[in-house]
Amino acid sequence: MGTIIEDATEGKVPPALKAAAEREGLDPDPLIHHIAHGSATVMVGGKRAVGIGKGFSAKVNVNIGTSTVRSDLAAELAKAAVAERYGADTLTDLSMGGNIREIRAAILKETALPLTTVPIYQAVVDAGGIDCLDGDFILDTFRSHAAEGVSSCVLHMTDKKTLEALGRSQRILGVVSKGGSMTAAYMLHSGRENPFLEYFDEVMEIARKHEIVISLGNTMRGGSIVDGGDAAAAVERKQNIDIADRCHQHGVQVIVEGCGGHLRIDRIPVCVRLYKDASPYPLFVAGPLATDRAVGHDEIAGSIGAAVAVSAGADYLCAITPAEHIGLPTGEEVKEGLIAFKIAAHIGDTVRLGSDDLDAALSACRAELDWKGQIEQAIDPDGLSARVPDAGPCSMCGDYCAIKIMREYLSRND
Ligand code: SF4
Repeated sequence: MGTIIEDATEGKVPPALKAAAEREGLDPDPLIHHIAHGSATVMVGGKRAVGIGKGFSAKVNVNIGTSTVRSDLAAELAKAAVAERYGADTLTDLSMGGNIREIRAAILKETALPLTTVPIYQAVVDAGGIDCLDGDFILDTFRSHAAEGVSSCVLHMTDKKTLEALGRSQRILGVVSKGGSMTAAYMLHSGRENPFLEYFDEVMEIARKHEIVISLGNTMRGGSIVDGGDAAAAVERKQNIDIADRCHQHGVQVIVEGCGGHLRIDRIPVCVRLYKDASPYPLFVAGPLATDRAVGHDEIAGSIGAAVAVSAGADYLCAITPAEHIGLPTGEEVKEGLIAFKIAAHIGDTVRLGSDDLDAALSACRAELDWKGQIEQAIDPDGLSARVPDAGPCSMCGDYCAIKIMREYLSRND
Protein backbone atom coordinates (compact mmCIF):
# COMPACT_ATOMS: atom_id res chain seq x y z
CA MET A 1 0.00 0.00 0.00
CA GLY A 2 1.33 3.43 -0.90
CA THR A 3 1.61 6.43 1.37
CA ILE A 4 -0.73 9.40 1.05
CA ILE A 5 1.83 11.15 -1.15
CA GLU A 6 2.22 8.10 -3.38
CA ASP A 7 -1.55 7.68 -3.77
CA ALA A 8 -1.88 11.36 -4.66
CA THR A 9 1.02 11.10 -7.12
CA GLU A 10 -0.95 8.34 -8.90
CA GLY A 11 -3.92 10.70 -9.09
CA LYS A 12 -5.97 8.90 -6.43
CA VAL A 13 -7.84 10.74 -3.68
CA PRO A 14 -6.47 9.25 -0.45
CA PRO A 15 -9.37 8.66 2.01
CA ALA A 16 -7.66 10.93 4.56
CA LEU A 17 -7.55 13.78 2.01
CA LYS A 18 -11.24 13.25 1.22
CA ALA A 19 -12.09 13.44 4.94
CA ALA A 20 -9.90 16.52 5.53
CA ALA A 21 -11.38 18.31 2.51
CA GLU A 22 -14.94 17.49 3.55
CA ARG A 23 -14.37 19.00 6.99
CA GLU A 24 -13.69 22.33 5.27
CA GLY A 25 -16.30 22.00 2.53
CA LEU A 26 -13.57 21.70 -0.12
CA ASP A 27 -13.46 19.68 -3.31
CA PRO A 28 -10.63 17.15 -2.77
CA ASP A 29 -9.75 16.79 -6.46
CA PRO A 30 -7.75 20.05 -6.87
CA LEU A 31 -5.96 19.25 -3.60
CA ILE A 32 -4.48 15.99 -4.93
CA HIS A 33 -1.81 17.96 -6.77
CA HIS A 34 -0.82 19.87 -3.62
CA ILE A 35 -0.43 16.64 -1.65
CA ALA A 36 1.60 15.03 -4.45
CA HIS A 37 3.79 18.14 -4.70
CA GLY A 38 4.27 18.38 -0.91
CA SER A 39 2.69 21.82 -0.62
CA ALA A 40 -0.11 20.38 1.52
CA THR A 41 -0.21 17.54 4.02
CA VAL A 42 -2.92 15.61 5.79
CA MET A 43 -2.39 14.81 9.44
CA VAL A 44 -4.30 11.65 10.21
CA GLY A 45 -5.56 11.19 13.76
CA GLY A 46 -7.56 8.24 15.03
CA LYS A 47 -10.80 10.18 14.61
CA ARG A 48 -10.01 13.16 12.41
CA ALA A 49 -7.92 14.06 9.38
CA VAL A 50 -6.69 17.66 9.14
CA GLY A 51 -5.37 19.32 6.00
CA ILE A 52 -2.46 21.71 6.38
CA GLY A 53 -0.93 23.80 3.62
CA LYS A 54 -1.88 25.04 0.19
CA GLY A 55 -5.60 25.04 -0.52
CA PHE A 56 -6.55 24.57 3.14
CA SER A 57 -7.31 27.23 5.73
CA ALA A 58 -4.49 28.10 8.15
CA LYS A 59 -4.47 25.75 11.11
CA VAL A 60 -3.74 26.27 14.81
CA ASN A 61 -1.94 23.83 17.08
CA VAL A 62 -2.20 23.87 20.87
CA ASN A 63 0.61 22.63 23.09
CA ILE A 64 -0.28 20.73 26.23
CA GLY A 65 1.69 18.42 28.50
CA THR A 66 3.29 18.04 31.89
CA SER A 67 6.66 19.30 33.09
CA THR A 68 9.12 18.03 35.67
CA VAL A 69 7.66 20.65 38.07
CA ARG A 70 3.93 20.09 37.47
CA SER A 71 2.43 16.81 36.36
CA ASP A 72 -1.32 16.35 36.54
CA LEU A 73 -2.94 14.06 33.98
CA ALA A 74 -6.46 15.34 34.70
CA ALA A 75 -5.33 18.94 34.15
CA GLU A 76 -3.72 18.05 30.81
CA LEU A 77 -6.81 16.16 29.67
CA ALA A 78 -8.91 19.18 30.64
CA LYS A 79 -6.62 21.38 28.50
CA ALA A 80 -7.03 18.94 25.59
CA ALA A 81 -10.81 19.21 25.98
CA VAL A 82 -10.61 23.03 26.09
CA ALA A 83 -8.45 23.02 22.95
CA GLU A 84 -10.90 20.80 21.09
CA ARG A 85 -13.94 22.75 22.24
CA TYR A 86 -12.52 26.13 21.22
CA GLY A 87 -11.46 25.01 17.77
CA ALA A 88 -7.83 23.84 17.86
CA ASP A 89 -6.93 21.85 14.77
CA THR A 90 -4.14 19.77 16.29
CA LEU A 91 -2.60 19.08 19.68
CA THR A 92 1.01 18.60 20.68
CA ASP A 93 1.87 16.70 23.84
CA LEU A 94 5.10 18.07 25.30
CA SER A 95 4.99 16.00 28.49
CA MET A 96 8.24 15.54 30.40
CA GLY A 97 6.82 14.78 33.86
CA GLY A 98 4.94 11.82 35.31
CA ASN A 99 4.25 8.69 33.31
CA ILE A 100 4.73 10.14 29.85
CA ARG A 101 3.52 7.08 27.99
CA GLU A 102 0.36 6.87 30.08
CA ILE A 103 -0.33 10.58 29.58
CA ARG A 104 0.08 10.21 25.81
CA ALA A 105 -2.21 7.17 25.73
CA ALA A 106 -4.88 9.02 27.72
CA ILE A 107 -4.72 12.06 25.43
CA LEU A 108 -4.94 9.84 22.35
CA LYS A 109 -7.98 8.12 23.82
CA GLU A 110 -9.76 11.33 24.83
CA THR A 111 -9.18 13.63 21.87
CA ALA A 112 -10.36 13.59 18.28
CA LEU A 113 -7.51 15.89 17.23
CA PRO A 114 -4.35 14.62 15.52
CA LEU A 115 -1.55 14.47 18.09
CA THR A 116 2.07 15.51 17.64
CA THR A 117 4.93 14.66 19.98
CA VAL A 118 8.60 15.54 20.29
CA PRO A 119 10.23 12.14 20.90
CA ILE A 120 13.56 13.58 22.10
CA TYR A 121 11.74 14.88 25.22
CA GLN A 122 10.75 11.42 26.40
CA ALA A 123 14.09 9.95 25.29
CA VAL A 124 15.92 12.40 27.59
CA VAL A 125 13.64 11.64 30.55
CA ASP A 126 13.70 7.85 30.08
CA ALA A 127 17.46 7.74 29.50
CA GLY A 128 18.03 9.64 32.74
CA GLY A 129 19.45 12.80 31.16
CA ILE A 130 21.04 14.12 27.99
CA ASP A 131 24.45 12.63 28.82
CA CYS A 132 22.93 9.13 28.99
CA LEU A 133 21.32 9.27 25.52
CA ASP A 134 22.35 7.22 22.57
CA GLY A 135 21.14 7.31 18.99
CA ASP A 136 19.48 3.86 19.05
CA PHE A 137 17.49 4.84 22.13
CA ILE A 138 16.29 8.07 20.51
CA LEU A 139 15.25 6.15 17.39
CA ASP A 140 13.40 3.56 19.49
CA THR A 141 11.49 6.33 21.27
CA PHE A 142 10.43 7.79 17.93
CA ARG A 143 9.40 4.31 16.78
CA SER A 144 7.23 3.75 19.88
CA HIS A 145 5.47 7.12 19.50
CA ALA A 146 4.70 6.29 15.86
CA ALA A 147 3.39 2.82 16.73
CA GLU A 148 1.15 4.21 19.51
CA GLY A 149 -0.83 6.32 17.06
CA VAL A 150 0.55 9.84 17.07
CA SER A 151 0.03 11.71 13.81
CA SER A 152 3.20 13.73 13.63
CA CYS A 153 6.59 14.00 15.32
CA VAL A 154 8.86 17.00 15.64
CA LEU A 155 12.43 16.07 14.79
CA HIS A 156 15.21 18.64 15.09
CA MET A 157 17.59 18.03 12.22
CA THR A 158 20.30 20.39 13.40
CA ASP A 159 23.61 19.45 11.79
CA LYS A 160 27.20 20.40 12.57
CA LYS A 161 27.15 23.27 10.06
CA THR A 162 24.16 24.82 11.83
CA LEU A 163 25.89 24.50 15.21
CA GLU A 164 29.00 26.18 13.77
CA ALA A 165 26.85 29.08 12.55
CA LEU A 166 25.33 29.33 16.03
CA GLY A 167 28.85 29.41 17.51
CA ARG A 168 29.71 32.44 15.34
CA SER A 169 26.51 34.29 16.25
CA GLN A 170 26.23 37.10 18.79
CA ARG A 171 22.83 35.99 20.08
CA ILE A 172 21.54 37.22 23.43
CA LEU A 173 19.65 34.01 24.08
CA GLY A 174 21.39 31.31 22.04
CA VAL A 175 18.98 28.42 21.45
CA VAL A 176 15.51 28.57 23.05
CA SER A 177 14.03 25.50 21.36
CA LYS A 178 13.89 22.79 24.05
CA GLY A 179 13.94 19.84 21.64
CA GLY A 180 16.58 21.57 19.53
CA SER A 181 18.80 22.24 22.52
CA MET A 182 18.51 18.61 23.70
CA THR A 183 19.36 17.24 20.26
CA ALA A 184 22.29 19.65 19.86
CA ALA A 185 23.53 18.93 23.40
CA TYR A 186 23.47 15.19 22.65
CA MET A 187 25.56 15.83 19.50
CA LEU A 188 28.06 17.99 21.39
CA HIS A 189 28.34 15.55 24.29
CA SER A 190 28.59 12.36 22.22
CA GLY A 191 30.51 13.78 19.27
CA ARG A 192 28.04 11.94 17.05
CA GLU A 193 25.91 13.10 14.16
CA ASN A 194 22.32 14.24 14.69
CA PRO A 195 20.51 10.97 15.53
CA PHE A 196 17.69 11.59 13.08
CA LEU A 197 20.21 12.15 10.29
CA GLU A 198 22.39 9.22 11.36
CA TYR A 199 19.33 6.94 11.21
CA PHE A 200 17.53 8.80 8.44
CA ASP A 201 16.57 5.68 6.44
CA GLU A 202 15.06 4.05 9.54
CA VAL A 203 13.21 7.29 10.37
CA MET A 204 11.73 7.28 6.88
CA GLU A 205 10.74 3.61 7.13
CA ILE A 206 8.91 4.24 10.42
CA ALA A 207 7.22 7.39 9.10
CA ARG A 208 6.05 5.56 5.98
CA LYS A 209 4.71 2.60 7.93
CA HIS A 210 2.63 4.75 10.30
CA GLU A 211 1.95 7.73 7.97
CA ILE A 212 3.71 10.09 10.37
CA VAL A 213 4.03 13.70 9.26
CA ILE A 214 7.60 14.78 10.00
CA SER A 215 7.71 18.30 11.42
CA LEU A 216 11.23 19.66 11.04
CA GLY A 217 11.99 21.55 14.24
CA ASN A 218 12.99 25.21 14.34
CA THR A 219 16.01 24.96 16.64
CA MET A 220 17.38 28.32 15.50
CA ARG A 221 14.26 30.38 16.14
CA GLY A 222 15.14 33.56 17.97
CA GLY A 223 14.67 33.98 21.70
CA SER A 224 14.77 37.75 21.20
CA ILE A 225 13.76 39.94 18.27
CA VAL A 226 17.46 40.89 18.19
CA ASP A 227 18.37 37.24 17.54
CA GLY A 228 15.56 36.23 15.19
CA GLY A 229 16.35 35.77 11.51
CA ASP A 230 20.15 35.75 11.87
CA ALA A 231 22.79 33.74 9.98
CA ALA A 232 22.21 30.61 12.10
CA ALA A 233 18.50 30.75 11.21
CA ALA A 234 19.43 31.06 7.53
CA VAL A 235 21.68 27.99 7.71
CA GLU A 236 18.89 26.03 9.41
CA ARG A 237 16.39 27.15 6.77
CA LYS A 238 18.53 25.67 4.01
CA GLN A 239 19.20 22.52 6.04
CA ASN A 240 15.51 21.93 6.85
CA ILE A 241 14.45 22.49 3.24
CA ASP A 242 17.06 19.97 2.04
CA ILE A 243 15.81 17.43 4.59
CA ALA A 244 12.19 18.15 3.63
CA ASP A 245 13.09 17.35 0.00
CA ARG A 246 14.55 14.03 1.16
CA CYS A 247 11.43 13.21 3.22
CA HIS A 248 9.21 14.00 0.25
CA GLN A 249 11.32 11.81 -2.05
CA HIS A 250 10.71 8.95 0.42
CA GLY A 251 6.94 9.50 0.16
CA VAL A 252 6.83 10.93 3.68
CA GLN A 253 4.70 14.00 4.37
CA VAL A 254 6.68 16.86 5.84
CA ILE A 255 6.12 20.25 7.44
CA VAL A 256 8.91 22.77 7.90
CA GLU A 257 9.04 24.82 11.07
CA GLY A 258 10.51 28.28 10.66
CA CYS A 259 10.18 32.01 11.40
CA GLY A 260 9.11 31.11 14.95
CA GLY A 261 10.07 32.44 18.35
CA HIS A 262 10.81 36.15 18.49
CA LEU A 263 11.04 38.03 15.22
CA ARG A 264 10.80 41.76 14.54
CA ILE A 265 7.55 42.50 12.76
CA ASP A 266 9.09 43.78 9.50
CA ARG A 267 11.24 40.63 9.29
CA ILE A 268 8.27 38.25 9.56
CA PRO A 269 6.96 38.49 5.96
CA VAL A 270 10.55 38.50 4.66
CA CYS A 271 11.27 35.29 6.57
CA VAL A 272 8.07 33.60 5.39
CA ARG A 273 8.80 34.49 1.77
CA LEU A 274 12.33 33.11 2.02
CA TYR A 275 10.85 29.73 3.02
CA LYS A 276 8.00 29.84 0.57
CA ASP A 277 10.12 30.94 -2.40
CA ALA A 278 12.63 28.15 -1.73
CA SER A 279 10.25 25.24 -1.09
CA PRO A 280 6.63 24.15 -1.44
CA TYR A 281 6.21 22.62 2.02
CA PRO A 282 3.69 23.83 4.62
CA LEU A 283 5.32 26.33 6.97
CA PHE A 284 4.65 25.90 10.69
CA VAL A 285 5.30 28.98 12.81
CA ALA A 286 5.48 29.07 16.61
CA GLY A 287 4.35 32.61 17.33
CA PRO A 288 6.21 34.61 16.16
CA LEU A 289 6.37 37.13 18.98
CA ALA A 290 6.80 40.57 17.48
CA THR A 291 8.18 42.01 20.71
CA ASP A 292 10.10 40.65 23.73
CA ARG A 293 8.30 43.07 26.07
CA ALA A 294 4.79 41.62 26.16
CA VAL A 295 5.69 39.03 28.80
CA GLY A 296 2.49 38.10 30.61
CA HIS A 297 0.52 38.97 27.45
CA ASP A 298 2.50 36.97 24.91
CA GLU A 299 -0.68 35.60 23.29
CA ILE A 300 -1.23 39.17 22.04
CA ALA A 301 2.35 39.72 20.80
CA GLY A 302 2.31 36.24 19.25
CA SER A 303 -1.05 36.62 17.54
CA ILE A 304 0.04 39.93 15.98
CA GLY A 305 3.12 38.23 14.57
CA ALA A 306 1.08 35.21 13.54
CA ALA A 307 -1.45 37.29 11.57
CA VAL A 308 1.45 38.86 9.66
CA ALA A 309 3.05 35.44 9.09
CA VAL A 310 -0.14 33.85 7.73
CA SER A 311 -0.88 36.84 5.52
CA ALA A 312 2.61 36.33 4.04
CA GLY A 313 1.94 32.64 3.40
CA ALA A 314 2.50 30.65 6.61
CA ASP A 315 0.14 27.68 6.85
CA TYR A 316 0.13 26.45 10.42
CA LEU A 317 0.47 28.23 13.75
CA CYS A 318 1.44 27.11 17.22
CA ALA A 319 -0.61 29.08 19.73
CA ILE A 320 1.22 31.01 22.45
CA THR A 321 -0.52 31.48 25.80
CA PRO A 322 -0.30 34.34 28.35
CA ALA A 323 1.87 31.96 30.43
CA GLU A 324 4.62 31.83 27.79
CA HIS A 325 8.07 32.37 29.37
CA ILE A 326 6.65 32.26 32.90
CA GLY A 327 5.03 28.87 33.54
CA LEU A 328 2.95 25.93 32.45
CA PRO A 329 -0.40 27.33 31.22
CA THR A 330 -3.73 26.73 32.92
CA GLY A 331 -6.75 25.60 30.93
CA GLU A 332 -8.03 29.18 30.86
CA GLU A 333 -4.68 30.41 29.50
CA VAL A 334 -4.74 27.69 26.83
CA LYS A 335 -8.18 28.97 25.80
CA GLU A 336 -7.01 32.61 25.68
CA GLY A 337 -3.99 31.71 23.56
CA LEU A 338 -6.01 29.53 21.22
CA ILE A 339 -8.69 32.15 20.58
CA ALA A 340 -6.05 34.82 19.94
CA PHE A 341 -4.36 32.53 17.41
CA LYS A 342 -7.64 31.48 15.77
CA ILE A 343 -8.26 35.18 15.18
CA ALA A 344 -4.71 35.60 13.83
CA ALA A 345 -5.10 32.62 11.50
CA HIS A 346 -8.36 34.01 10.16
CA ILE A 347 -6.97 37.54 9.67
CA GLY A 348 -4.01 36.03 7.82
CA ASP A 349 -6.28 33.84 5.72
CA THR A 350 -8.25 36.82 4.42
CA VAL A 351 -5.01 37.69 2.59
CA ARG A 352 -3.57 34.18 2.11
CA LEU A 353 -6.80 32.80 0.64
CA GLY A 354 -7.93 36.17 -0.72
CA SER A 355 -11.46 35.93 0.64
CA ASP A 356 -13.57 38.31 2.75
CA ASP A 357 -16.67 36.09 2.60
CA LEU A 358 -16.73 35.03 6.25
CA ASP A 359 -16.25 38.61 7.44
CA ALA A 360 -18.98 39.81 5.08
CA ALA A 361 -21.34 37.18 6.51
CA LEU A 362 -20.80 38.46 10.05
CA SER A 363 -21.14 42.08 8.96
CA ALA A 364 -24.45 41.31 7.25
CA CYS A 365 -25.75 40.00 10.59
CA ARG A 366 -24.35 43.08 12.38
CA ALA A 367 -26.18 45.37 9.95
CA GLU A 368 -29.45 43.64 10.89
CA LEU A 369 -28.67 43.73 14.64
CA ASP A 370 -28.95 39.95 14.30
CA TRP A 371 -27.12 38.78 17.42
CA LYS A 372 -27.85 35.10 16.91
CA GLY A 373 -26.32 35.29 13.44
CA GLN A 374 -23.27 37.10 14.78
CA ILE A 375 -22.78 34.41 17.40
CA GLU A 376 -22.91 31.75 14.69
CA GLN A 377 -20.34 33.62 12.56
CA ALA A 378 -17.98 34.56 15.39
CA ILE A 379 -14.61 32.90 15.94
CA ASP A 380 -15.50 32.54 19.64
CA PRO A 381 -19.26 31.92 19.69
CA ASP A 382 -19.28 30.81 23.35
CA GLY A 383 -17.60 33.95 24.58
CA LEU A 384 -19.90 36.18 22.53
CA SER A 385 -23.20 34.54 23.43
CA ALA A 386 -22.88 35.50 27.10
CA ARG A 387 -22.29 39.17 26.28
CA VAL A 388 -24.83 40.26 23.68
CA PRO A 389 -28.43 41.48 24.04
CA ASP A 390 -31.28 39.29 22.84
CA ALA A 391 -32.36 41.87 20.28
CA GLY A 392 -32.01 45.51 19.21
CA PRO A 393 -29.11 47.88 19.85
CA CYS A 394 -26.48 47.02 22.44
CA SER A 395 -25.64 49.11 25.51
CA MET A 396 -22.80 50.96 23.74
CA CYS A 397 -25.02 53.57 22.07
CA GLY A 398 -28.48 52.46 23.23
CA ASP A 399 -31.15 54.70 21.67
CA TYR A 400 -28.48 56.35 19.53
CA CYS A 401 -27.43 53.15 17.74
CA ALA A 402 -25.79 54.39 14.53
CA ILE A 403 -26.93 51.35 12.56
CA LYS A 404 -30.56 51.84 13.64
CA ILE A 405 -30.50 55.63 13.08
CA MET A 406 -29.16 55.38 9.54
CA ARG A 407 -31.54 52.58 8.65
CA GLU A 408 -34.51 54.69 9.83
CA TYR A 409 -33.40 57.89 8.14
CA LEU A 410 -32.50 56.17 4.87
CA SER A 411 -35.86 54.39 4.83
CA ARG A 412 -37.64 57.79 5.17
CA ASN A 413 -36.10 58.78 1.84
CA ASP A 414 -37.21 55.58 0.05
S1 SF4 B 1 -25.63 50.36 19.77
FE1 SF4 B 1 -23.75 51.13 18.84
S2 SF4 B 1 -22.25 49.49 19.17
FE2 SF4 B 1 -24.27 48.60 19.58
S3 SF4 B 1 -24.93 47.73 17.64
FE3 SF4 B 1 -25.69 49.82 17.61
S4 SF4 B 1 -24.06 51.01 16.62
FE4 SF4 B 1 -23.17 49.04 17.19
